[in-house]
Amino acid sequence: MAERSSGRRFFRKKKYCKLCSGEIKEKDITYKNVDILKNFITERGKISSRTRSGLCAKHQRLVTGEIKRARMIALLPFKVEYYRSSRKS
Ligand SMILES: [Zn+2]
Repeated sequence: MAERSSGRRFFRKKKYCKLCSGEIKEKDITYKNVDILKNFITERGKISSRTRSGLCAKHQRLVTGEIKRARMIALLPFKVEYYRSSRKS
């Protein structure tokens, strides 16, 4: 199979990758930037599928990785079932 060495593929469809288009900066995709990561998770806190987020494979992987990292340090919930009932002031 002949594979293009460029590694970049552009599909001209209605859906476009927000990162490739420059709508969101690649450097803004970090685990710290929860506000941006939130665009890529569902209301239930699940990571949006590629069809839903409209990201290309490369950026989907980037976003997924950062969301997972954010979850690890508890910036984003694994599930949204939790709520802060145990808060004492
Ligand atoms: Zn992209």
